Amino acid sequence: MKIQSIRGTHDILPGSVELWQQVEATAHALFELYGFAEIRTPILEETELFARSIGTATDIVQKEMYTFSDSKEKQISLRPEGTAPVIRSYIENGLYREGMVHKLFYIGPMFRRERPQKGRYRQFHQIGAEVLGTDHPAADAELILMLRRFLRELQFHDYRLLINSVGCFECRPTYVQWLRGALQKFQTLCPDCRRRLEANPLRVFDCKNPACQELLHRVTPLLERLCPACIAHFDSFRRHLDQAKVDYQVAPQLVRGLDYYVRTTFEMVSDRLGPTQNALLGGGRYDGLSEAIGGPPTKGCGFALGLERFILLLSNQEELGASYVPPRSTVFLAYLDDRAFQECLRLAEELRAEGLSVTLDFEARSLKSQLRLADRTRALFTVVVGDLEIDSGQFKIKRMADGMECTVTRAQLASYMKEQGSATASQPAC
Ligand code: AMP
Repeated sequence: MKIQSIRGTHDILPGSVELWQQVEATAHALFELYGFAEIRTPILEETELFARSIGTATDIVQKEMYTFSDSKEKQISLRPEGTAPVIRSYIENGLYREGMVHKLFYIGPMFRRERPQKGRYRQFHQIGAEVLGTDHPAADAELILMLRRFLRELQFHDYRLLINSVGCFECRPTYVQWLRGALQKFQTLCPDCRRRLEANPLRVFDCKNPACQELLHRVTPLLERLCPACIAHFDSFRRHLDQAKVDYQVAPQLVRGLDYYVRTTFEMVSDRLGPTQNALLGGGRYDGLSEAIGGPPTKGCGFALGLERFILLLSNQEELGASYVPPRSTVFLAYLDDRAFQECLRLAEELRAEGLSVTLDFEARSLKSQLRLADRTRALFTVVVGDLEIDSGQFKIKRMADGMECTVTRAQLASYMKEQGSATASQPAC
């Protein structure tokens, strides 16, 4: 039986991978401008890390993690998100001792056992960034400015920014208690939400059930019950956005599906992703997360962007998706017999050492089919090698764009192609 990829996973093939590379390279370059350094953490972590940070009442921890026992004592999970591992690493490696703000970003695969559909996978990729060591609202706003610029650089404009505040350890518990009472009256809550009501009523906001969503619009949101410190923080965050002329909507229902958020939460959504899977990225503040996993008090905020969703949006855009052309090789080496094949293998390595991209056919096909392959690889030049070329040391180079030919010595091949590679077809080849 044919073996297929695991449900909810996917291959990224040549032809698509170039767009991924472009997005990743843009993130690297731009995030560094904002002072972020890359961090790479393991894919495997102790399950406990996610239970304590994301929260035991969340869908991610309750239903979606890939977890297995490594030994009698240890449960291990494939990471479902990147923030908790970054904080774990920040604590474990003593970065907090340096007494400065740390800005870290990551790019990598995450794993959640969700029901696969368009824009939702079991292995997906996130680009994320974390600012650790400050609770200044300007840090939250700076993340938004960086993201706005990131999306603009990739010519993506079709999104809306939603922001909210989910309060802090001072004001949230009172609200949560009140919310439990307020929601208990509603008989139409789905069975999942009834359970959520016991464990953590705020998680009811994550419910996709339209009846539950409708009820939530009838209860006072947390945003209207914030303590003065949280109101001041949210107002300052908004002022920073206003000063930078960022468009946003306040979305009091936006709690996000992870327990560690306090105060700021935000999402960038695109209606082009469809009604249920419309979040392109999400983030917020998570003061207290470090303490929850045994670290020193640390304030922080960050975001994660789903690469599959972003690539989906970009590939639907003419400017980027449709403009992809496979990379062309500079030269195709064709050979007439085995002696020439051996010479071509040597020559290919010499030319590559000079920085030229070289293709040749390994299958000893006829010269005609080798030349057809040269066309398919969109080579700029073709060199045919036989006894005559090897014995005389003179090689004929054909420029594919216009068929012009020129004979040079073996030693001149690389420099000739480098010069001519940047010239236009109308210029003479020799
Ligand atoms: P979260 O880590 O849940 O805050 O999600 C941040 C972003 O990751 C979302 O806005 C999505 O773009 C992306 N994302 C989350 N879960 C999935 C998934 N199962 N498949 C694809 N992308 C996802």
